[in-house]
Amino acid sequence: MPNRLSYPWHDQLPVSGQTIEVGPGIHWLQMPLPFALNHINLWLLREQHGWTVVDTGFDSEESRALWEQHFNGTMAGLPMQRVVATHYHPDHIGLADWLVQRFSAPFHCSLGEFTAAHALWHGLPGFDVVALNAHFGRHGLPAGKAIQYRERGNTYRWGVKSLPLNFNRVLAGDTLHLGDADWVTIPGHGHSPEHMALYCEEKRCLIAGDMLLPKISTNVGVWASEPDGDSLKLFLASLNRFLDLPDDTLVLPSHGRPFRGIHPRVAALHAHHQERLATLSAAIRGPVTAFELLPVLFGRVFDLYQTMFALAECIAHLNHLWHAGVLRRQQDSDLCYRFSLA
Ligand SMILES: [Zn+2]
Repeated sequence: MPNRLSYPWHDQLPVSGQTIEVGPGIHWLQMPLPFALNHINLWLLREQHGWTVVDTGFDSEESRALWEQHFNGTMAGLPMQRVVATHYHPDHIGLADWLVQRFSAPFHCSLGEFTAAHALWHGLPGFDVVALNAHFGRHGLPAGKAIQYRERGNTYRWGVKSLPLNFNRVLAGDTLHLGDADWVTIPGHGHSPEHMALYCEEKRCLIAGDMLLPKISTNVGVWASEPDGDSLKLFLASLNRFLDLPDDTLVLPSHGRPFRGIHPRVAALHAHHQERLATLSAAIRGPVTAFELLPVLFGRVFDLYQTMFALAECIAHLNHLWHAGVLRRQQDSDLCYRFSLA
């Protein structure tokens, strides 16, 4: 088993508006993102009379313009016959409704992702900014920062102008015939409610979504609707599912380059989180909030948007240690949760 990752396209990226064919009938394209993480990879699969797309891009003028180029160029004027989303995050589902409506194409995703998308988009109680502020407030986010979140409104809608109103439900272990081959869904948890990666045995290819990225570690967060959850445990267990796949599988991640080396990458991600857990527990002396521990875990200052994800990730690690009995959690008279060694 090789202990390093290999990148077959280490010196190549898809040019804007064009694709790289990474396997028979599997086309890699990139779309821009308005964040530090500045791109997402999408996958167009060639059907006999059209195309299937897996993930759709963040909704922006730039992304739509790029899609127009692909409609006429890459897709040669043939229709999008199916739109699949690995999960509900805006960079993945943002243009799903636009594509579905334009081509009258069916939309496929899991129930967990479909309902999470709608709950956030509509700002339902428990999924809205009020709930987010209350959740982060209990973990020590200062009131001043919480107010700024409120002024920014529903950040989910920045990249998702509208959502498909119905879908075709994808379950764990389902086989989808996409392009000219069968793809089996592999569920993942901890990054989003019911993420679906797709594995094609015939092509030795895994469309990994955000569950297995080559360079960065996937965000694992605890959010307002499941405040006591152990999402890190769910995530680590999900990673292990990929160990059943052959190590020469070509992994097609949503960010970064396609790679081979599932087993060393899963091992590195486990090691990364164990190191994070050890760092956190070593830093905890007296009772302390998640917000106060952000510098320990990340060691740098974030803008507000990044703070959201950093704090959710910090809570995920603390909840994991709490559920494991390493830490105990108290709620003080200011309603803040504070963690200390058990
Ligand atoms: Zn994601």
